[in-house]
Parts: sequence; structure tokens; C-alpha cells
Amino acid sequence: MNEFEAGRPVVLRGGTVLPMDGPPEGGRRVLERTDVLVTGDRIAAVGPDLEVPEGTAVIDASGGIVMPGMIDTHRHMWQTALRGYGADWTLTQYFVWFYLEHGKLFRPEDVHAGNTLAAIEALEAGVTTVVDWSHGLRTVEHADAAVDALQAVPGRYVLAYGNIQQPPAEWTGAPEFRDFVRRRITGDDMLGFQIAFDVLGDPAFPERPAFEVASELGVPVTTHAGVWGATSDEGIRLMHEHGFMTPETIYVHAASLSADSYHRIAATGGSVSVSTESEQSAGQGYPPTWTLRAHGIPVSLSMDTSVWWSGDLFSAMRTTLGADRSREHLEAQTKGETVTHCALRSDQVVDWATRGGARALGRDDLGVIEPGRKADLVLIKNDHSPVSFPLLNPYGHVAFQAQRGDVHTVIVDGRVVKHEHRLLGVDLAAARAQIDRTIEYLRGAMGEEAWAKGMNPDIPTAKVLDNPYTYTDYRSDATHRL
Ligand SMILES: [Zn+2]
Repeated sequence: MNEFEAGRPVVLRGGTVLPMDGPPEGGRRVLERTDVLVTGDRIAAVGPDLEVPEGTAVIDASGGIVMPGMIDTHRHMWQTALRGYGADWTLTQYFVWFYLEHGKLFRPEDVHAGNTLAAIEALEAGVTTVVDWSHGLRTVEHADAAVDALQAVPGRYVLAYGNIQQPPAEWTGAPEFRDFVRRRITGDDMLGFQIAFDVLGDPAFPERPAFEVASELGVPVTTHAGVWGATSDEGIRLMHEHGFMTPETIYVHAASLSADSYHRIAATGGSVSVSTESEQSAGQGYPPTWTLRAHGIPVSLSMDTSVWWSGDLFSAMRTTLGADRSREHLEAQTKGETVTHCALRSDQVVDWATRGGARALGRDDLGVIEPGRKADLVLIKNDHSPVSFPLLNPYGHVAFQAQRGDVHTVIVDGRVVKHEHRLLGVDLAAARAQIDRTIEYLRGAMGEEAWAKGMNPDIPTAKVLDNPYTYTDYRSDATHRL
């Protein structure tokens, strides 16, 4: 018998609860030794020593941290089928591999395989909502496969429909796309919808019809903006001047834009999905939180793609804090100054990883722990880990100490989907078999040489200084003189 059968209330007893219910810039409230009661799909009560209905399942949260489920606002889930393959890529190599050469090899079943594994992986790491930035949907059969996979794993998802093999005006205008939206996007609370495409800055603004389709359907647009060498201020200007920048718009990366573009984003109320691990190694631009903060632009976090990076938001929080502080120190030190107090705090990145994502998606029922909100919850607790104590600064602990292996329990929509570090009702062996088939097919279709070459890009020849050991000579000189 499943001790967490559907409909049975659950209480997390005696945890350190991070409710994320303070003002946006400081969610630092901490509730010690507090219970969280879940009934149905909602949080029913939060407080010490709660009275609970008879038959409630009890999870001991003592010594652990209870926080809202994390929300990733931009992940190309289909690419998880190639986990780690592009670890040494730049953005250029990614574009060549996926956009120009091999992305079109993916069949519907390969999108299904990647999405399934990505969905399971997200749940396991406490990421309860993921925007599937699904730009490999070159046919509607691919899109059906993507949604089939998402609906088979008990997380909350938003399908951001995209297709890199066709101009956005074309695929958004196709009757089968409309038909897909009618058939599959039915207002289910567990499956949201966005339209995903990039604005390349052509003055003729060929993306205009795609924006019109989004407005007509009443769905948000998500777009890679401010990506060095790909999308620039021109795209932002065109969107703004044609009236397509709205509060629902999500700008992914927004890492290499001018102040003028940030002003346009701020003025129209959109938010930025920052993928720090991605921006740091692929080259979209410097991770922009340091300048987004100055412009008052709302932030959410994302992992982008497991072709390079991890799929857990602990990494996002950690690298974002690091990149922001790194930039702050560098800017000050360039002027001969010293930063004596960090501006970006750990509670702020926890906020971005939870409530920031909820806000970006227009979901004010997510991202906060209080009665009446949806029960998407994570318990971080690992009694076997030396990193689990002392628990002095819970926000700092989440941002810099905790790891995905410390995710003890995950609840989505009131349903316990992971308990005592184990996923419930997920068939990992089936997911693995599917991935194996996809890899075998891709390797075969590409050929061994192209497969190996894709994974091992050339290393540029680095010039080593003629004499990097200048001080060795200096010392030996000095010895001579003595
Ligand atoms: Zn992306």
C-alpha cells in the first residue's frame, strides 16, 4: 500500500520553514519547528504543533528545511537525451550542432525520451515546475510526444512551443499548430502554455505574425534576448515599438543588452530568466542579475539545457550569487574601491528560484508557503550527511550548502512524489531504456566520426608566454649577486 495514497492529508512536522511571504527583496522570514499541513492540492495550515485530520500521513521534517517547490523558467528538456554531450561547447558549436546539422534528426520518440528523463530529473531535485522551452518541435507529432512525456510524470510543466527548423511566422500560422493547441492545451492546471521563438532584429520584423498569434491565443511569449552574436537591442526595440512587450513576456538570458533595452523591459513589466551556468560558459553575455537589480527587473532562474549543465536549481542559486558578487567586486576594484557589504543576499536567490518563477509565470498560487496556496513543497533533509548541520542560516544553507541529494521529500499539487530520497511511482528503468534507444539511433544516424567530433571540439592553440618563469631568472640573478 502506498502510504501517500491520493486524497490522504500529509503533514510535514517540525521543520524549519521558509515561507517566502515577505516583500520581494527580502523573503528572509524563518519559521522554526513549524508544521505544514497539506489537504487535497492545497496547503491547509502552517504553524507549530498543528492539529491534523485523522489518518493524516506524517513526515518528520525535524532538522530539515521546508521550502516552496523550485521553478525553472527555461529548460530545453528534449536535449536531456544528450546529457553532458556538449560540456565543452560554446554557443556557436551548440547552434551548429542543433540548429544547422543534427537537431533535425530527432524523432518524436527522441523528444519523448529527453522530456521524460528531464521531467523525472527535475522532480527528483525538488524542481516542481519546469518551463519546457521545446524548440525541437519540427512537426506536431513531436509536440504530441513532448506533452505525452510531461503528462506521464507527476510534475507541473509549461510547454513553451518552439521550432528552430522554421521561421516562427510559418509554424505558428499552420492549421495543425492551432489544432494541437485546441487538442492538448485544455486549461489543465498542471500544463501551461507559452510560445517560444527568438527575434533576430531584421528591420522587416518577420516575427510579427507569431506575436499576433500569441496575442490572439492569449498566451505569453518567451524569447532568448540579449544573446551575444544572435539577438540584440534591435529585437527588443522592434518588439517594443510594435507593442509586443507585455508583463507576461519572459526574456531569457538578457545578458548583452544596452541600458535602453533594460529600460524597455522594466517599463513594460516583463521578467528575465537568468541561466547563470549557461551564460558563464556558452557566451551569451555576463550573467545579468547585477544590472537587472539596478533596473528593478524581476528575475527567475533556469538551467537551460542538460546538454552542458546540471538540471538542479541549487546550482543556479549558487552560480548566480557567485557571478553577481564577482561582478560587484570587479566593478569596484576597477575603480580602486572595496566592496565591504554584499548587495545580493542568499535569501534573494532562494526567492528567485521559487517565488520569482511563480511571478514570471503569473502563478500567484505557487512559490509561497501559506494556507490556500497550491501544495508544491520540498523538504531538504539528509540525516546521513555531515553537511546537514549545524543549520544556522537556512537561506544561506539552501544557496551554498544543500545539494540535490539532500532533497528528502517532494510534494506536487498535494501529492507526495518523492519520499526518503526516493521517487515514488516513477519508472527510471523504462526511461533509461528509451534514452538508450535514442542514443543508439542518433549515433548511427550521425556516424561515429561526427558523433565523436561533436563531443570533442577543437581546442584553440593557446600562446604560452616566452618566459613565464621571469622570477626564476630574477632569483638566480639575485643569488649571483650575493
Ligand atoms: Zn535556451
